[in-house]
Amino acid sequence: MKKILTFGEYLKDKFGERVYKVPIALSGFTCPNIDGSVARGGCTFCENDSFNPILNQVEKIKGITLNLNSKENPLLEKQLQELQFQFQTLSKKLERDYDASKFLVYFQAFTNTYAPIETLKKLYLKALSLPNVVGLSIGTRSDSVSDEVLDFLETLSKKHEIWIEFGIQSIFDETLEKINRGHNFQNVEEAILKSRERNLNVCGHLIYGLPDESDEMMQQSFDKTVELGVNSIKIHPLYVVERTALANQYRKGEFSPISEETYIKNIVDSFKKLPEDISIQRVTAGVENSTLISPDWCFNKQSSFGKIRKELYKNGILY
Ligand code: SF4
Repeated sequence: MKKILTFGEYLKDKFGERVYKVPIALSGFTCPNIDGSVARGGCTFCENDSFNPILNQVEKIKGITLNLNSKENPLLEKQLQELQFQFQTLSKKLERDYDASKFLVYFQAFTNTYAPIETLKKLYLKALSLPNVVGLSIGTRSDSVSDEVLDFLETLSKKHEIWIEFGIQSIFDETLEKINRGHNFQNVEEAILKSRERNLNVCGHLIYGLPDESDEMMQQSFDKTVELGVNSIKIHPLYVVERTALANQYRKGEFSPISEETYIKNIVDSFKKLPEDISIQRVTAGVENSTLISPDWCFNKQSSFGKIRKELYKNGILY
């Protein structure tokens, strides 16, 4: 039996106990693919709320959106308070429910390196100073990470567990154009290589079922991601949610979501090739509320997860 290393197991091996990710979403952060710097409207599937189901459960401190790229950042203090408040709320719940005592602060929503370096330094350092935090996981885009930020993360990584998470989605530029990604694959490749040169832990995010992609294309994206030297991979199916450009395309019959069978087949084919030292952070995703338009199977993430595990097992893979 081939055993897949989960991200949870990787962290447990390293820290001697389970480490819990605490997702954070701060006011003022946006995305260059939304605010007009690269494009407007964002990726065709993006409705950022749908990425943050946990955060929707906690009260967020609401505030006006500020321009983080201006030299002045009068609301940095507010962001620091939000960070502390969200961390306390969620970590206390994890402590209560799971007896958790080690955490990774996960800068999840939008593009978390898209701000002046001084702002980022203060936020990252604040996160690392919170109780029982062993490191950071920073979600970002490959076109929004400067050498300066990577150098700072490299310094932090000497003492802390530092992960940087890039959305790769597909290695095919024609697909990236179709989803209005705003950057090409070469840009992702360069950002990952620069991160790896600094020994940062890199997680690559892939989506299966992107418009007009064949099984062969999904497998090629997976192979190339492995070849780039990432340390961890997240995969999820492309699903259609309300208030997105993809929803319009779906309703006009211009996009058909991947079937559960095809998705699972591609996961199995990918995991057969997965090197033992690359961990898996996510194997599927779903939206368990009425904003999900299609496919129906993405409504029940647990059921899909069970089917994936079963199919992997049938193919000699333990997950
Ligand atoms: S990069 Fe992320 S936040 Fe920005 S538009 Fe795409 S999915 Fe949304």
